[in-house]
Amino acid sequence: MKDTFRHQGKRQHLVEILKEKGITDKKVLTAINKIPRHFFMDSSFEDHAYQDKAFPIAADQTISQPYTVAFQSELLEVEKGDEILEIGTGSGYQTAVLCELGAKVYSIERQQELYKKTKLFLSKLGYRPKYLTFGDGYKGLPLYKPFDKAIVTAGAPYVPNPLLAQLKIGGRLVIPVGTDSQVMTLFIRKSAKEFEKKEFGEFRFVPLLEDKN
Ligand code: SAH
Repeated sequence: MKDTFRHQGKRQHLVEILKEKGITDKKVLTAINKIPRHFFMDSSFEDHAYQDKAFPIAADQTISQPYTVAFQSELLEVEKGDEILEIGTGSGYQTAVLCELGAKVYSIERQQELYKKTKLFLSKLGYRPKYLTFGDGYKGLPLYKPFDKAIVTAGAPYVPNPLLAQLKIGGRLVIPVGTDSQVMTLFIRKSAKEFEKKEFGEFRFVPLLEDKN
């Protein structure tokens, strides 16, 4: 696949749309402007890659809507060198955004097919997440804790405790919570036992499923 001037132009236009929708974090917008989203999708959807929409990927999953990726990335307040846990690697697009922001990314995917495909694909593109694994994101990654930030990219019926427990003090968890639709929720760890919670409106995700496939 090629990243042509036409793709780049459409991508620039997408960035303008995200700004109009309220995304202000320049680093996030720069990352989206740089990453060829059409590479992350089936070639039959290539023409739609720069619409602000979610699209099907393998294993009945979706690549999140760019606005959602931008919104979650902005809420994370990523700093260079942050250790970030991501639940739901999927196409790897959000992973690539986090890598562009200078994070050290640890990502879990429960569909083996997607895990294998995306691992190979990200390395071909030159992205080097710290650790990609096949497993159940509800458990987090106890071996690699604590994390500066954590992001869940599937709809969680409830907030898994391990994800809160694996945050550093001052750490942030961005998680869409709900079954039919989800409320984007931010938790900030204030101390060992205290978490501040903020909510940011409705989104729609594929479900965060328990146990691996
Ligand atoms: N960030 C991805 C979004 C993919 S959709 C992208 O931009 O492409 C959500 C992903 O979460 C799917 O790939 C799904 O298989 C995965 N998922 C669902 N439940 C999970 C779980 N318990 N642990 C890890 N991944 C899970």
